[in-house]
Amino acid sequence: MPRWLSCFPSRPSQSLEIDTAGRLPGCVFCHVSVERGFAVVHEDECLIAFKDRSPQAETRLLIIPKTHIASSVRDLRSSHVQLVKGMVDLGHRLSPAEDSNMGFHIPPFSSVPHLHLHVMSGRRTTLGKLKYPVAQRNGGKGWPWFVTADQTLDILEQGGTIGVGKS
Ligand SMILES: [Zn+2]
Ligand SMILES: [Zn+2]
Repeated sequence: MPRWLSCFPSRPSQSLEIDTAGRLPGCVFCHVSVERGFAVVHEDECLIAFKDRSPQAETRLLIIPKTHIASSVRDLRSSHVQLVKGMVDLGHRLSPAEDSNMGFHIPPFSSVPHLHLHVMSGRRTTLGKLKYPVAQRNGGKGWPWFVTADQTLDILEQGGTIGVGKS
C-alpha cells in the first residue's frame, strides 16, 4: 500500500504523473525538505509544516500533506474532512495563539498548486484584511479568494465544494 493511503483514505489528485510515493515530479511542495532550504518545523508521516520564506508574509507557517492529495482547496470533497482536520489540529499545536487564523487560498489566487494551509499571525491588521479577505457566502458577490479552515470544514461536511464565483 502506498504510504499516503495509510495516512488518508482519500485519493490524490487524478494525475498520471503522480509517482508511487504520491508525489508529483516538479511540484515544489511535494519535495519540501530541510536539504532543499525549507525551514521545516514539523514533520510526521502525513504532514509537513514549514515557515513561510517571504519575510513580509503574514503567514507564519504553511502546513501541507506530504503527498499530492489535492492541488488546492477547490479539489477537496467530503472525503478530505479528516485531512483538513488533521492540518488544522497541527496548526493549533504549532501556533497555539487563541486568535491564530488559518485558511486556504482559492485558485486562481493560489501561488503553489499543492494544497497548503496558511497559519497566519494572530494580529489582524488592516492590510491583512485586505490581503486575505475572508469568504462570506452571503456577500452577494460570490467567493473572495480566501476561505478559512472553519468555513472549509463546514462546506465539506455538508457535501459542498469551494470555488470562486459561486453563490
Ligand atoms: Zn505537490
Ligand atoms: Zn496560498
